[in-house]
Amino acid sequence: MAILGILHFPDPRLRNVAQPVTTVDDSVRQLLDDMLDTMYEAPGIGLAATQVNVDKRAVVIDVSEEKDQPLCLINPEILDLEGVEEMEEGCLSVPGVYEVVQRADHIRLRALDRNGQPFEMQADGLMAVCIQHEIDHLDGKLFVDYLSQLKRTRIRNKLEKEQRQTSTVADARSSHRVI
Ligand code: ZN
Repeated sequence: MAILGILHFPDPRLRNVAQPVTTVDDSVRQLLDDMLDTMYEAPGIGLAATQVNVDKRAVVIDVSEEKDQPLCLINPEILDLEGVEEMEEGCLSVPGVYEVVQRADHIRLRALDRNGQPFEMQADGLMAVCIQHEIDHLDGKLFVDYLSQLKRTRIRNKLEKEQRQTSTVADARSSHRVI
């Protein structure tokens, strides 16, 4: 079990666009396992490799109550978006901030699984929102980008102040689901 360090907004490395995984080998599977450990420990319901400063298009998600349905997506690609969903989102890279974001509520996507096998899936509701949020991370995008400039500046100032005050942000253990 390895817990990886999570980058916090406004760290510029969160703006990196991740590279496609060319071969799904043991090192990629190890990364996915470490990302799952990190996500469960945080706790969160999704984590993208970009958030742990790894430049690979890999995402882990588990939206189940029992935390026993891990989903690994390698090189995920959205094929279809439908409908509109407004949901309050949080992010392990933007601790303590929860804002409503509008996204598609039904998506179809293609990805590779942890054995490198391609598959397609559909998702709606929370799962659809979570997948869109994580794919945004791989493209260097954060949920705060959907907010007004004013709000984003306030969030940046708040987090920078907290990061100056303490190296470990004491937020985390709230009842919010954090993706
Ligand atoms: Zn996030």
